Amino acid sequence: MVSKQKINREKVLAALNTSCPKCGYAIPPAEIRRIDFERMECPRCGEKFTPKKV
Ligand SMILES: [Zn+2]
Repeated sequence: MVSKQKINREKVLAALNTSCPKCGYAIPPAEIRRIDFERMECPRCGEKFTPKKV
């Protein structure tokens, strides 16, 4: 079913995007800046946070 596959694909894409807990910016994978193994930095406001484990 094409429609079912489309929904699954959107869910996967949403899971790849990480939202900043401070400004709410959905950070695309290409803009994610990792500080170390656990933390990352928001490219918009500079907030450092630990992303949710997928
Ligand atoms: Zn932010």
